[in-house]
Amino acid sequence: MRENLKAIKELVGPQVSILPVIKSEAYGHGLIPIAKVLAAEGVYGFGLSDLEEVQRIREAGLALPVILLSGFEPSWLPEIVRLRVIPAVIDLYQLRLLAEFSKRQGKKVALHLKIDTGMNRLGIHPSELDQALSLLEDNPQLELSGVMSHLAAGEHPRAVITRQQKALFEEALKEIKRRGFRPRFIHLANSAACILDAKARYNLVRPGLALYGVYPGPEARKKIKLKPVMTYKARVLSVKEVAKGEGVGYGPLYRSQGPMKLALVPVGYDDGYLRALSNRGFASLKGERVPVVGAVSMRCTAFDVSALKDVSPGDEIVLLGGEGGEVPVEELAARAGLISYELLCLLGRKVSKIYLRSS
Ligand SMILES: *Cc1c(COP(=O)(O)O)cnc(C)c1O
Repeated sequence: MRENLKAIKELVGPQVSILPVIKSEAYGHGLIPIAKVLAAEGVYGFGLSDLEEVQRIREAGLALPVILLSGFEPSWLPEIVRLRVIPAVIDLYQLRLLAEFSKRQGKKVALHLKIDTGMNRLGIHPSELDQALSLLEDNPQLELSGVMSHLAAGEHPRAVITRQQKALFEEALKEIKRRGFRPRFIHLANSAACILDAKARYNLVRPGLALYGVYPGPEARKKIKLKPVMTYKARVLSVKEVAKGEGVGYGPLYRSQGPMKLALVPVGYDDGYLRALSNRGFASLKGERVPVVGAVSMRCTAFDVSALKDVSPGDEIVLLGGEGGEVPVEELAARAGLISYELLCLLGRKVSKIYLRSS
C-alpha cells in the first residue's frame, strides 16, 4: 500500500493533497493498521463514512483531519464537534442542523459542501446552492473549508455524464467564489478520475480502490503501476477422490465429468467467499489455478485439484491475491458478477489479518 500511495503521489504531483478513503474497514483491509501506515507516509487526512470508524481513529491516537464523505445522522453532531470531524454536508436539511447545533454550542465548525452534479444521491442540488450559500453567510460560525462532488462514472472521463458533472461542478465553484467564499479544498476525483483525468484532481483527490492495489478499470493500467495489498489464504482441510457422475455439494450444482480429486477448504460465504463464486471462482494451489466446483456453502468450498500430483491437508491455498498476484481480485470478482469493491469489503471483514512490511 505504501508503494501504491507513492505511485499516486507521483502521478498527481506535490500541489495535490491526498485524502485516502478508508471507509468500510479500509475496504476490508483493517481500519486502524491501514490508517496508521497512511498517517506515517504523509496524507492530508482520512475519508470516512461512519462515526464509529471516526471514533476508533481518534481512540487510536490519530489526529489528522477526518472528512465524513457521506453526510451524518443528527445524533452524531456532538461527536462531530468533539472529535473535530469535517462533515460533508449533503443537503439543506443537514446544513440547517449543523448551523443550529454549532450556534447553540457557540462552536466554530468546518464543513465541506457536497454538490450533486448528476449522481442524484448525496449532495446539494445546483438549484439549492443559492440557499445554501445564504445560510452560510448568515452563520459565520460555519466555515466552508471545502467543496466537493462525486462522479457517477469516473472511469469514463470522456463520457457525456462525466463531462456534464464536471461542467456543473465548475459552475457551482464559480458561483461560490463570486459570493466571496474561498474554500481551501476543491475535490472531485475518486481513484479512477484521479488516475485518468488530471483536470478532475483540483487540489485534493480521494483514492480508495487504487490504494489497495486494484485498478479501477483497464484504462488505469496504462497510467499507473499498482500492487494488490490483500492476500487471502486458507489451508486445505481434506482431500478426497470422487467417481464419475457424482454430485458435489448442495444442489448438486456440479456433477463430476470423470474421476476427480477435490480439496475441501473451510471457507464459505460466512467468510465473504460468496455463493456467487459457485462453479465460477478459482484459487491458486502450489502455483496452479484450481476451480471451485459446486456450491460455495457457509463454511466449506470444494476445489478441483485433479491436475495436481500431491495435495495434502494443511497445504496453503490462495483464494485472493498472492505474492505473484495469482488470483487477481478484478478477475475473481468479474467471474462472479461482482465488483472488486464487494469482494475486498466482504473477504476482509471477519478473518484474522497479518500485516507484512516489505522494507
Ligand atoms: C468511497 C468514495 C471514494 C473512493 O472511491 P474509489 O473508487 O474507491 O477510489 C471517493 N469519494 C467518495 C465520496 C466516496 O464515497
